[in-house]
Amino acid sequence: MISADLLEILRCPMDPRRQSRLVEEGDRLVCHGCGMKYKIKDGFPVLVAEEAELPPGVESLEQVPARHAAGPSDG
Ligand SMILES: [Zn+2]
Repeated sequence: MISADLLEILRCPMDPRRQSRLVEEGDRLVCHGCGMKYKIKDGFPVLVAEEAELPPGVESLEQVPARHAAGPSDG
């Protein structure tokens, strides 16, 4: 469980504008901007793109920032 205070300041590292908040879903933090799923290890989010799950339809990390640019603004 990630505290609300922490979630408030966390941002998706793949968002060029650093505006996309993350949402806790099970044992992952999910970015609704790009769909990246970041692991939570021992209660701490691992905001490392290389260790995260790619969103459906995305084959490489290089495509992820473009999804932020193209997707709806969430902030
Ligand atoms: Zn994102």
